[in-house]
Amino acid sequence: MDYLHGTDHSPTMTLRLYESDPYLREFTATVLSTDGNWVTLDRTAFYPGGGGQERDRGTIDGLPVTGLKGKTEMAHQVPGHGFSVGQSVIGRIDWEGRYGLMRAHTGEHLLFSCLSRHTEMELVKISLTRERKVLVVKGQLDWDMIREAVLEVNGVIAQGSPVSCEYLDREQMSEGGPRAKLDRITDQKVRVVRIGEHDQAACAGVHLRDAQEIGMLLVNKFTSARPAGDWEIEFLVGPEAVSAAVEHSVRALMLAERLGSLPQDSLTAYDNRDKELLRCREALKVYGRQALASIPSQQVNGIQVLSGTFPGLDRKMLMERAAELASGPRTLVALLSQDERAFLVLARSEDLELDCASLLNLVLRPHGGKGGGKPNFASGGTPGPIKGEDLLEEIIRMVEKGL
Ligand SMILES: [Zn+2]
Repeated sequence: MDYLHGTDHSPTMTLRLYESDPYLREFTATVLSTDGNWVTLDRTAFYPGGGGQERDRGTIDGLPVTGLKGKTEMAHQVPGHGFSVGQSVIGRIDWEGRYGLMRAHTGEHLLFSCLSRHTEMELVKISLTRERKVLVVKGQLDWDMIREAVLEVNGVIAQGSPVSCEYLDREQMSEGGPRAKLDRITDQKVRVVRIGEHDQAACAGVHLRDAQEIGMLLVNKFTSARPAGDWEIEFLVGPEAVSAAVEHSVRALMLAERLGSLPQDSLTAYDNRDKELLRCREALKVYGRQALASIPSQQVNGIQVLSGTFPGLDRKMLMERAAELASGPRTLVALLSQDERAFLVLARSEDLELDCASLLNLVLRPHGGKGGGKPNFASGGTPGPIKGEDLLEEIIRMVEKGL
């Protein structure tokens, strides 16, 4: 929605053809003036962008239009043009991109009004580009409201609803009437866009003739945004919405199958798994602490070596325990945890000369692993699983050799 542009035309202005005919793809115009790469025309079908919708792309006499600016006289940036004042030119809009944006823009009107019926909401920002369609709103929103609103929008689309425009005096814009931010509108006349009985809003943008042409609207992202209380709603329209809906539903069905639940129960099934995972982690911590309490020790070359492998154990627990154990006299600690990768911690007492970081890299390197740390404490891992016992034996052999 663009509340900024007015409707009053004077003969020196660029006539905005898209306001009366948003389906115009090609037009002839006369060059009013040029300034470097910028060309001002007497009429144009190029929508300069506004209300969050990006500008049109296209060509003038076959040359790409790379920018649009100006409120009353619209200048078109056409690098390398050789146009002269009074010359007649042909403009062509990149129709595929524009039509997609008209679908998104009309869809955004409907989505906003349907959401507003469920909750008190304030529009923060709209961003409609070829790549991404986003609405940012402030209010109390949840997935249930999104579901209801999207169903309502698609109901309107399926039934069809004509889109019309009229110009109202500012004074006619009353509370409970068309949505408008009057503080942002400077003109006396306000362009109001209606989608049947479903929505009315002040807007200077380009819309479809009928909501049916949207094809389908799908919200494909709904997340909280900054500042707190803001929500970002990303949506798709037309064929993109259809493919995403099919893709999402197939994935949801596959996921339910993996969870061993019915699709409608998959969220509960997931939550149950999540709780089970938390319980397992807690249990692992308890058993891990027990296992770490008694670590086998042996005397090697006058050094007390404490070592052990602990499958699946939390790395932080392993490191904390290694540091504790290394406080004894002439002690070296080598603790290893294993899952899809191996993780090794080496720690020694201050009265030893041995460099833990070098020793760690020496034993991990043949397995494609590496690590880092200080002479008295180092940790690192391997990219894949290894035989943990072999690695610890290798460390013992190194200590025997006096490394
Ligand atoms: Zn609009």
